[in-house]
Amino acid sequence: MAPRYPIIIGAGPAGLTAALELTRRGVTPRIYEASDTVGGLARTPSDGDWRIDPGGHRFFTRSEEISDLWRSLLPADQWVAVPRSSAMLVDGHLVRYPLIGRDLIRQMGIRSGARGLSSLAWSRVRRRVRLTDRLDNFRDWGVEEFGRYWYQMFFDGYVRKTWLTEPRELSSDWALQRIKPIGWRRRAERAFLEQDVFRYPRRGPGQLWEAVAAQLAQAGVVTAVNSPVETLHYDGQTWTAGLAGAQTVIGDAVFSSMPLGQLVGALDPQPPKYIRSVAASLKHRSLITVAVALSKAYDIPYNWVYTPAPGVHAGRVQNYRRWSEGLTPDGWNGTFLGFEYFIGPGGALWDAGDEHLTALVTEDLRTLGLNPATIEKVMVVRSKYAYPIHDPTRDRGVVRLRDYLRAHYPSLHPMGRNGMHRYDNQDHAMLSALHSVGRYFGELVTDPWHVNTERAYHEMGLKP
Ligand SMILES: Cc1cc2nc3c(=O)[nH]c(=O)nc-3n(C[C@H](O)[C@H](O)[C@H](O)COP(=O)(O)OP(=O)(O)OC[C@H]3O[C@@H](n4cnc5c(N)ncnc54)[C@H](O)[C@@H]3O)c2cc1C
Repeated sequence: MAPRYPIIIGAGPAGLTAALELTRRGVTPRIYEASDTVGGLARTPSDGDWRIDPGGHRFFTRSEEISDLWRSLLPADQWVAVPRSSAMLVDGHLVRYPLIGRDLIRQMGIRSGARGLSSLAWSRVRRRVRLTDRLDNFRDWGVEEFGRYWYQMFFDGYVRKTWLTEPRELSSDWALQRIKPIGWRRRAERAFLEQDVFRYPRRGPGQLWEAVAAQLAQAGVVTAVNSPVETLHYDGQTWTAGLAGAQTVIGDAVFSSMPLGQLVGALDPQPPKYIRSVAASLKHRSLITVAVALSKAYDIPYNWVYTPAPGVHAGRVQNYRRWSEGLTPDGWNGTFLGFEYFIGPGGALWDAGDEHLTALVTEDLRTLGLNPATIEKVMVVRSKYAYPIHDPTRDRGVVRLRDYLRAHYPSLHPMGRNGMHRYDNQDHAMLSALHSVGRYFGELVTDPWHVNTERAYHEMGLKP
């Protein structure tokens, strides 16, 4: 049998999972990672005993295979069970999310509740007389589902701030996957309190990926960090990856989790112009997480607080101690928050220095009624390729790229969130990696491109 020596691009969940699976099947890949750390978007940057989860990573999956794999990668005492609890901060009230009817009426005041209810009743009347089956944009869907008043209050500003788009430009499919209707019965309340518990590595998601990298190193798999793959030459049989400093490595196959557009741009010989222009049209939203440790202990009984109000710059705030006490130094008793700032392609905030970001977070703390004088520490984490931007035109473009790559490069396996340019969670990224390895061995397993294509993937949470 010809020697096998696959190249893996990226040491995020997809790349490391592909490496685990290849190793399990007796093949030793080499991993090249552009950044200085493993874990990709699910890394956990640290500063001393402070650890930051840049995105708030729930370990939740419907796949038993992935669930078992997670369990096998960290000892049981390194997992914590975290009840999911999120809220939306509106008019100074922390309102539980998913929305519960009783809160909207009691917590927001009788007058506001009455306006919300009458607006909802009106939207229901309109639904009855509507002739079309479904509404295809987010705004119209939201107004009909929540009534104009509550839609404006909770969702309009949220979408503008986090998705950086006009709500009419966003498809209602997006909402169907992520937004729960208002719960009106006590059952909804009980569900909020009891149902949604997820797993989480005690010291953040990166703990798991650091453990995987260590396990791979023991098996002889080298993960080269600070090693961006810049070019990929294919001679019809063998791949030659060009790294910085004119260094090259050869491989019989490439598993790529680098952004799909950049992958196409790196190919040599170059694909035709129309393919390159589709690739160049793929864009991302970026995320800057500013973590602040406050010496004062505030009682915020939620993991996430969404902040749709235009007066707050951040779109969402993580409450890290609700995720795990392992993210803060032992015995520390303050409040550790992660403010998330969402940035569109070319957005000026991406270039802001730490000083500017500290000023921004200070302003947000003040607006939220938290005392900035109690700041002990500020840490900034930047994720440039946080969210692949979707729209029907781009989605069609991704299909064209997939078909082109498949026809011309059978040993090239794009996988994972940015690798396939879609909104994958870790479990999807991992499944696409496992299926890609299956294909590498010539098995007729599920098509990696078919992972995460169910239309109604209700996740409970309002994910940006
Ligand atoms: C804010 C936020 C919240 C999230 N919440 C959740 C959650 O609750 N639960 C969940 O399961 N998932 C969540 N996710 C998604 C999760 O982070 C991703 O699904 C997962 O990290 C994707 O893994 P990946 O390996 O495909 O990509 P990535 O994590 O992006 O890893 C790709 C790696 O490739 C490297 N790379 C890029 N280009 C090159 C190159 N040219 N050469 C070498 N290396 C390169 C990158 O540096 C990176 O390390 C969240 C994501 C975000 C942004």
